[in-house]
Amino acid sequence: MSKTNTSMEKIVSLAKRKGFVYPGSEIYGGFANSYTYGPYGVQLKNNIKNLWWHWFVEKRADMVGIDGTILLHPKTWKASGHVDTFNDPMVDCKDCQARHRADHLVEDKYEGNVDGLSLAELDEKITDFGVKCPKCGGTNFTKARQFNLMFQTQMAKTGEESIAYMRPETAQAIFLEFKNVVDSTRVKVPFGIGQIGKAFRNEITPGNFIFRVLEFEQMEIEYFVHPEEWKEHFESWVQAMYEWCELIGLDKKKIHELEVEGDALAHYSDRTVDFEYEFPFGVKELYGCAYRTDFDLGNHQRESGKTLEYRDPQTNEKYLPHVIEPTFGVDRTVLAVLSEAYEDETLDDGSVRTVLHFKPALAPVKIAVLPLMKKDGLPEKAQEILRKVQVFGNCEYDQTGAIGKRYRRQDEVGTPVCITVDYDTLEDDTVTVRDRDTMEQKRMLIGELLNYLSDNYFVY
Ligand code: ATP
Repeated sequence: MSKTNTSMEKIVSLAKRKGFVYPGSEIYGGFANSYTYGPYGVQLKNNIKNLWWHWFVEKRADMVGIDGTILLHPKTWKASGHVDTFNDPMVDCKDCQARHRADHLVEDKYEGNVDGLSLAELDEKITDFGVKCPKCGGTNFTKARQFNLMFQTQMAKTGEESIAYMRPETAQAIFLEFKNVVDSTRVKVPFGIGQIGKAFRNEITPGNFIFRVLEFEQMEIEYFVHPEEWKEHFESWVQAMYEWCELIGLDKKKIHELEVEGDALAHYSDRTVDFEYEFPFGVKELYGCAYRTDFDLGNHQRESGKTLEYRDPQTNEKYLPHVIEPTFGVDRTVLAVLSEAYEDETLDDGSVRTVLHFKPALAPVKIAVLPLMKKDGLPEKAQEILRKVQVFGNCEYDQTGAIGKRYRRQDEVGTPVCITVDYDTLEDDTVTVRDRDTMEQKRMLIGELLNYLSDNYFVY
């Protein structure tokens, strides 16, 4: 058996064919860089979010969760620095009107860090390097200018308050509720607040399937610590992020830690470590861990005029906690998990099967129950078993086609276990349990099934 290299085309095509991810608004000719998660995709995505919530929020005594709104008070974004500094430099091609990230146009040719270049320097480099428009090949660009990535929307109000922003990160709702959480629960610093939700960015150059989109989901933690203890907490969160990557089945060798330096740091961060992953199209950011200091709490305290200080119940010391932020993109996780799981496996007989080696916790279908024949009481027996194994989550029943074909169908969507019901089942209450990865088959009593499945597949 051999594992071939996974290309992006294969993943995009399987995603559409099997109902993981469809191009958005397709019947209207598509709506650029928007995607719909199909029936298997939404299962996979929900499983990722549920596992994350369970792992980081429910299982830890030092964590709680919230669910804030997408539209926050507009002053939030002034205080957070996003109105003034959440920009990317862009240029337009005057010949074909295509819009490009100015820094992306020069990054291949420039030896230094493009994030440190001013707008004037970007213009200069574009001319010096003879950069051509990636769309039409022209060299007739506008001057570089800053473009704010926040989407604005209009509220049914007048005046300044009529403008609202669609949040570009979920983090800010957590900062706004910091005091409420401290006052209404028994948390003590160090502790964290987790949140999962949509974020929106008016990206100048979206692309690479669901890697960079305008509307996406984040799973974020703001972890509040004593200012003197940030370093050890930062290290322990970096470790926790590695453990998460392992939990969802990402190969550690494909993860590269990048210390973000100087001007490349976000405006709120004093230290950031990016987790880059070897996606099929290149090594790119999957997650990040940022030390946000007291930047956000301090700014919200100033802007709102409300104290956000924390009082230590033991020492009575009053201070603004500092924050470590581990952030995880949901859509990039889906893409990484799909890339890692995909295999076109050449079998001993020379045939090729496509299989997704999802961890059972993430698999969109946990178990498929397959009656060998559509008659003689086998479907009824299979339905009975299906109802039992549904305790493990989403299961399927499939009675059409040759059994080998049905196994392949389940392999292609990553179902870890198939249970086959045949004539012997009616006689002696045994079934065949077939493993997706090894394709090995075991005969066992129906009465042993639940324990066997939970011990071997669904413990997490
Ligand atoms: P990039 O450098 O790739 O633009 P970023 O450093 O701006 O990413 P963060 O602001 O740290 O990203 O956002 C946190 C996480 O949200 C990222 O690690 C990523 O997983 C996810 N994310 C950010 N922007 C997008 C996007 N446009 N589409 C999908 N996911 C995104």
